[in-house]
Amino acid sequence: MNDRPRGPGALLARLVVPVECPGCRAPDVRWCEACEAPWWEPPLRCESGAPRLSAVEPPLAVWSIAPLDGAAHGAIAAWKDSGRRDLVALLAPAMERAAHALAPALGAAIPAVAVVPCPARAAHTRRRGVDVPTVLARAAAAGLARGGLTAGVRPALVPARGSSRGAGDRGRWRAGPPRATRAAWRDPRPVAALLVDDVLTTGATLARAMQALEGSPLVPIGALVLASAEGPGQGPVVRRA
Ligand SMILES: [Zn+2]
Repeated sequence: MNDRPRGPGALLARLVVPVECPGCRAPDVRWCEACEAPWWEPPLRCESGAPRLSAVEPPLAVWSIAPLDGAAHGAIAAWKDSGRRDLVALLAPAMERAAHALAPALGAAIPAVAVVPCPARAAHTRRRGVDVPTVLARAAAAGLARGGLTAGVRPALVPARGSSRGAGDRGRWRAGPPRATRAAWRDPRPVAALLVDDVLTTGATLARAMQALEGSPLVPIGALVLASAEGPGQGPVVRRA
């Protein structure tokens, strides 16, 4: 993958920094078998646990792979915010497999899917050194394509203007809605859109993304996330503090 750390500095860091499983802290493994197992499960519907999606019209189907519990939360947080960029090798293939599993359900009615990442704020992408939603969207598009669909990433959304100002002031800052870019209108013919994000909690991000695409040729037919707060299949899960 092209998102792994490169160069002698990265190699040295891996040699001197002890590695541990981000899910359970087992030492000396990048991740353990037990914490990897949920990422091999097929994606399940999870939107009923997201209050902000209850009022969107038309309703949005959301699939998630894992419950956002200790292990999954640990892996995603370590990838995004603790410099564990190597976890792309765990999470991107999980997204690819989930999209592949989803392809028959989506492909029955549609010939092509535009995969639209819910955009991360520019300051977050700079700090992380990785554009998490775009990496996941590429993996999802690859999975759909392997499942026989015509699928490509369409970066049709950008964060609200000025939102990067909030990066150092997260306590008071409230995210504005994302905006649709010219890429949303690149092809005027209507096309089915699969929204992709890392996690589903309240559903506010996906609801805003749908609003931003309203009136564009991109018609959201569903969303795919790595993990959801209520858990795929809608069983409640306890989130680690
Ligand atoms: Zn583990």
